[in-house]
Amino acid sequence: MFKVLFTPGQIGGMTVQNRIVMPALHLNYSPDGAVNARIINYFRERARGGPGLIIIGGCAVDDLGPAPLMIRVDHPRFLPGLSELAAAVKAEGVKIAAQLYQAGRYTYSAVTGRQAVAPSAVPSRLTRETPRELTVVEIREIQASFVRAALLLKEAGFDAVEVLASAGYLISQFLSPLTNQRSDEYGGTMENRMRFGLEVVEKIKEAAGAGFPVLVRVAGNDFMPGGNTNDEAVIFCRALEAAGADCLNVTGGWHETHVPQTTMSVPPGAFSYLARNIKMAVNIPVIACNRINDPLLAERLLAEGSADFIGMARALIADPGLPAKAKGGRIAEIRKCIGCNQGCMDHVFSLQPVTCLVNPQVGREEETVLTPVSVPKKVLVVGGGPAGLEAARVAALRGHRVTLWEKSDRLGGQLNLALVPPGRGDFRHLITYLAGEAERLCVTVCLNKEATAAEILAADFDACIIATGSLAVKPDLPGVDGANVVQARDILAGRAVTGRKVVVVGGGAVGVETALYLARQGALDADSLFFLLQTGAEKPETLARLAARGHKEVTLVEMAQGLGRDVGISTRWTLLADLRRSGVTTHDKTTVTAITPEGITALKDGEEIFLAADTVVLATGSAADDALFCQLEGKMAGLYLLGDACRPRKALEAMHDAFNLAASV
Ligand code: SF4
Repeated sequence: MFKVLFTPGQIGGMTVQNRIVMPALHLNYSPDGAVNARIINYFRERARGGPGLIIIGGCAVDDLGPAPLMIRVDHPRFLPGLSELAAAVKAEGVKIAAQLYQAGRYTYSAVTGRQAVAPSAVPSRLTRETPRELTVVEIREIQASFVRAALLLKEAGFDAVEVLASAGYLISQFLSPLTNQRSDEYGGTMENRMRFGLEVVEKIKEAAGAGFPVLVRVAGNDFMPGGNTNDEAVIFCRALEAAGADCLNVTGGWHETHVPQTTMSVPPGAFSYLARNIKMAVNIPVIACNRINDPLLAERLLAEGSADFIGMARALIADPGLPAKAKGGRIAEIRKCIGCNQGCMDHVFSLQPVTCLVNPQVGREEETVLTPVSVPKKVLVVGGGPAGLEAARVAALRGHRVTLWEKSDRLGGQLNLALVPPGRGDFRHLITYLAGEAERLCVTVCLNKEATAAEILAADFDACIIATGSLAVKPDLPGVDGANVVQARDILAGRAVTGRKVVVVGGGAVGVETALYLARQGALDADSLFFLLQTGAEKPETLARLAARGHKEVTLVEMAQGLGRDVGISTRWTLLADLRRSGVTTHDKTTVTAITPEGITALKDGEEIFLAADTVVLATGSAADDALFCQLEGKMAGLYLLGDACRPRKALEAMHDAFNLAASV
């Protein structure tokens, strides 16, 4: 099955046991810049899974350009923790590198207490701040910080370092004409704009020695209008090779780009062409990254020559055991990253510790080691949604004898609806994983099984976990029971259809995604788009419109200010852009007052408005379905309420609550 993925690879003089690299992903685990037990446990767990190389970080090289809660490598006092971490990872046979981070104009003044620095004083859309221009003396000082950091890491026992030159951080700011408006030797021509980054690499190589590998994280395309493209990336990468770089780790665009880089809507492997084009131009190894969540995809990219190594960051957050499972042929047991960003990227940007929707143990590896039970209990789980399935998995793992009753004909609960809107299909991986684990762990699953209190009480279960989910809320509105009114859940489940003119009421995640789903009905599918593009049948701009819009007129109405406010920060902007591209008309701060057979009336800015509709779709929230729990409460021991049945929230909270509960039953 794997001809390349598990063969050793070479980065400079460093032999890496296989082609899986875990790239740096900020964790928010270090309040004081030092490596601590939490960080060591997190990376030890990833190393035990058996990748070839782990890159930690980013790691701040100075106090001018750090991010909050970041590992720091700018003082010898950090040496003991770094040494312990390096030893822990290397003890598992895995190589370890650290990413050298300087954010330049992406630095928040609130973090450093002073104005950010950059090649030029160009305002940042990320921080909403304007940096000041660096002097040449300061440029040399920052380069020296990179070198000192590399030497510190070498002393700590790290096998290599990676210079961060992508995503809009300091080195890419020098590289881009958008942010580098200097007229000295560090600005102007491409040769001058490359100089800062090339000198950083040269100086590290000179100081640390030719035998100490230096990787460089590059943007394969900045995806910034007027910025560097894949063509300039190729020129930069050739120059990096000449400057002594040992490996190029190719990612996508800047944080300010309008092209989504990491969301579920990005097709797995979509950006591998960036690495492939660079690989064709250089002789040093290249790592391909971004949304590669599947070892079979990784193998294909390697086999077809797109890259020499595959970067899997979130894939190894979601399942640290991925390399070992793949190598052992246990593909079906892999808990795939679904690209939701809820526990990782959204937490990075909101300064919370990184965790994971599909893996509730992330960041608390030591305290969540499951203890086998000495006396197995007979455990009943009612409800086969994510909470029920995760509870069943964890209880079964601990040795309990678990039965799961699901009233519908399939497992997955609301995940089956969440995966329907465009770009949300990867939720199916979580259902597949949890259902597969239920089978592997011998959970007795009964579908089409409606639980009643009488039957549960008559049975002899030692514990009963009620995870019966939620019910759609019907607002108290005139006309809400009309024949033209349907619930969003029924649309997504295929139980209802709409007319051509649709008003969706409720602009939370469900409303936004349902509106998008309806607006795309009748749009070109991927195969048709490819065919029409290849044959030149239509102009690209016509195809873009046909792919984004179907034939329905969809309007989305939300009472509060803003749409999709319950969607994570890393995904929300992409959904809102999709709404615009798909032609959905939106009204926020608009309160629906009545539904009629012809549409809805609403209040907006104190004025009554009328929106015509053949169908009105309700996406007005959920309420806990705890009726069964209430019937059982006080009548049996070992009764638990879980997931949306307790309080409707995101799948991340449901999964984490389920893990915690089942770990202690
Ligand atoms: Fe992947 Fe979501 Fe987990 Fe992040 S939180 S690692 S995107 S599954």
